[in-house]
Amino acid sequence: MFKGLSDRISQSLDRVKGRGRLTEDNIRQTLREIRMALLEADVALPVVKDFIEHVRERAVGQEVLKSLTPGQALVKVVNDEMVRVMGEAHDGLNLHGKPPVVILMAGLQGAGKTTSTAKLARYLMESEKKKVAVVSTDVRRPAAIEQLETLAGDIGAVFYRAESGTEPRRIAEQGLEHARRQHADVLIVDTAGRLHVDADLMQEVRDIHAAVEPLETLFVVDAMTGQDAARSAAAFGEALPLTGVVLTKADGDARGGAALSVRQVTGKPIKFMGVGEKTDALEPFHPDRVASRILGMGDVLSLVDEVQRKVDQEKADKLGKKLKKGKGFSLADFRDQLEQMQNMGGVGALLDKLPGAGKLPPGAASQFDDRAIRRQVAIINSMTREERRKPAVINGSRKRRIARGSGVEVQDVNKLLKQFTQAQKMMRKMGKKGGMKKMMRGLQ
Ligand code: GDP
Repeated sequence: MFKGLSDRISQSLDRVKGRGRLTEDNIRQTLREIRMALLEADVALPVVKDFIEHVRERAVGQEVLKSLTPGQALVKVVNDEMVRVMGEAHDGLNLHGKPPVVILMAGLQGAGKTTSTAKLARYLMESEKKKVAVVSTDVRRPAAIEQLETLAGDIGAVFYRAESGTEPRRIAEQGLEHARRQHADVLIVDTAGRLHVDADLMQEVRDIHAAVEPLETLFVVDAMTGQDAARSAAAFGEALPLTGVVLTKADGDARGGAALSVRQVTGKPIKFMGVGEKTDALEPFHPDRVASRILGMGDVLSLVDEVQRKVDQEKADKLGKKLKKGKGFSLADFRDQLEQMQNMGGVGALLDKLPGAGKLPPGAASQFDDRAIRRQVAIINSMTREERRKPAVINGSRKRRIARGSGVEVQDVNKLLKQFTQAQKMMRKMGKKGGMKKMMRGLQ
């Protein structure tokens, strides 16, 4: 992500990072390099000027030159400035209204509106536990309507299909009515794409806006388009009261110009970022994390967030506390974990995101497929509370009873107990200080 920019900036910062002393000369050189890198990444010129000016002021001041580690201090100043131009904190969606709350998606054709509509629906369903409905008003491209219908089916969102020949504005109204009848919390309205800012289509989206009164009007824009993204956002912003931007295709080798320019040029925050073609490839846009990605500081935070969003936090916290106190990991905890794994789409989906997970032996994840997990949960459910707490009491006759109760063979009960013992060992390791870190390192 933003690789060119990231490489260039980290190279020039690497040269000063470890320095115990900086002179105005080498600060000037570093600033020149950063300025070139930003321009090449297609960041809008006013943004570049403002950025460099701010860094310069702070760099030659007390903060950097008088710091004990001037090199590091300069890196921090650059990082802070990047966060500032991207908007400081993450701006969430405003969903505080009478349901169904409407979100309108607008943008140029091919920007990723339909994909982002489905991604956002999935995100709201998973992370905010909302019931979400979607509707497409793109009557010019029936394929776009079908694309959304398929995606909605995949993720389990409510989809509204209007009769053919219905006007876009009416489709949106009917979609809202349908969402209301279905008791949806949120309705996302996908609109027709346009190749460029065109008066007729703009009027159409304005009419839709007036009809359904969205709380959020998001401009969807392709990160590959650099500072043009900011320009088209500004043009749409004149026609529509935009509340935010969805930056798509940030996973490509985009230059970073869009991410760094949009906020400053339009005054609108980037709220989400698309990082792939699948419906789960959407991340809330956190300026600080994006800045640290650009500066090559890695992005463990986003991964952590993603996992948390899908894991039942309360249970995880309870387990964490228990482990810290050195209390045993019980079969009931194991069952909670299995159920959470199921919620996350199986362990395979999670492993995809961990660095170095590709090195695990093939099939390591498949023993946790959906059916197997359900069977394991059933076995644990057939145990008594005592057995769950103290598996050592499970003797032959108890095993037979458990197997009968859950409709499996005794050998399946044995297998589960063995997997539990392994999990328990792993938990003990993670419970120790720094255990989780060590485990992650082990995977790399
Ligand atoms: P629309 O015309 O604005 O509705 O655009 P679509 O949603 O049909 O997307 C156009 C193309 O961009 C499709 O091939 C999508 O798979 C792709 N796309 C959308 N968002 C992303 C993203 O975040 N990353 C990548 N790599 N591709 C994306």
